[in-house]
Amino acid sequence: MNVFIETYGCQMNKADSAVMMEALLEHGYQIVNHENDADIILLNTCSVRKTAENRIYGRIGYYKSLKEKKRAATGKKLILVIAGCMSQRLGEGLLKKHPPVDIVVGTYYRDQIPQVLYQFLNDNQQIFVEQKKFTFQPSQPDQDNPHKAFVTISHGCNNFCSYCIVPYLRGREISRSSAEIIADINDLVEKGVWQITLLGQNVNSYGQDNNEISFAQLLKKICQETDLQWIKFLSSHPKDFHEDLMNVMAEEKKVANCLHLAVQSGSNNILKKMNRHYHIEDYIRNVKKLQSMIPNLYLTTDIIVGFSGESAADYQATLDLINEVRFDDAFMYKYNVRESTLAANKYEDNVAEDIKQHRLAEVIKLQRKISLENKKERIGQTFEVISEYKSKKAENEILGLTKEDLAIVYQGNKEHFHQILNIKATKMKGNTLYGEII
Ligand code: SF4
Repeated sequence: MNVFIETYGCQMNKADSAVMMEALLEHGYQIVNHENDADIILLNTCSVRKTAENRIYGRIGYYKSLKEKKRAATGKKLILVIAGCMSQRLGEGLLKKHPPVDIVVGTYYRDQIPQVLYQFLNDNQQIFVEQKKFTFQPSQPDQDNPHKAFVTISHGCNNFCSYCIVPYLRGREISRSSAEIIADINDLVEKGVWQITLLGQNVNSYGQDNNEISFAQLLKKICQETDLQWIKFLSSHPKDFHEDLMNVMAEEKKVANCLHLAVQSGSNNILKKMNRHYHIEDYIRNVKKLQSMIPNLYLTTDIIVGFSGESAADYQATLDLINEVRFDDAFMYKYNVRESTLAANKYEDNVAEDIKQHRLAEVIKLQRKISLENKKERIGQTFEVISEYKSKKAENEILGLTKEDLAIVYQGNKEHFHQILNIKATKMKGNTLYGEII
């Protein structure tokens, strides 16, 4: 049977989709690239924002009509499976409220999708399954680029940032043993993987639950005991980002010169209400230190505007921060209440919608300007690059990602997809950096 997988949300979900895909392939299912070719649709969902959930409701509506069309045209059933954070959050309620959904599986059940499908195909009854205990699964190479893979090193989160639903969905943080991580990576290397991204909700607190080794020590161990070429990691929490990790990043050439360090706000008042446990002065001191240790650092962040009680002065502090740190890129959002979170219970969502909207537009404009200026400063530099996609617009044009995670376009052909290239950045066209193979 043919399965079409649609993945939403964070890199963790992408890693979970790879595990589901591998389990399905092992059980004789085929993975297809279009829903029209599918017998089974698998939506791996995200609950982090209301807009993310609304999008999934839209997709369920779309698949309801596709199911009806398929039944009318072929007499066959199209099976709709919901996995991921929404299934964890809403559980059986999703089946009751949305009859087109056939199967709901909690996030911990991702490797057992074939068994659940087998049960459904035999009983033809809606199924909801969840599992209380999380187990780490072997990582798989990326389907689009077999030289890349995500490797999960921890699961869950203990931080309870007041706006965030993740700890309620994914549970308390558990770290995978370093021996298992090394064995997993060595298997990937045997399969041809050069580049991995280590994943955790907060990779910096790796090892705190099992008193094994710290994240900095794990990173060093991976550099020493595996034959990878590039190592990246996501996500880092500023409260746990310390000098030991900065030193490993600066010393170990395999560790990519990129860091995503979510700041969320430039105001200490707001950071306190967000339960973030750091001061903005410490954040700035740390990133400036790292920028001086790694001059090519590609630094990205997350920013929320319009959080409960955000005054004009609090908001100005965020603008000042963006101007001072000069991030290379940022994910920027306006605050949306997530039910059951600390902020939903404790704080009023009292910044008017038009003010939120205005602030969001302004931070996006400022960040875009800085991103562009930072990119222009990189013209003339040479980067290590892995080819990612062939351009749909221009013959022989390839879009690649530098070791720092910067997108760059260059002339090349299919041979250039299976090696690390040296590309010199030569010009900008619009927002895009262009270069030449050297
Ligand atoms: S660190 Fe905060 S924002 Fe990130 S997953 Fe944990 S609670 Fe959510």
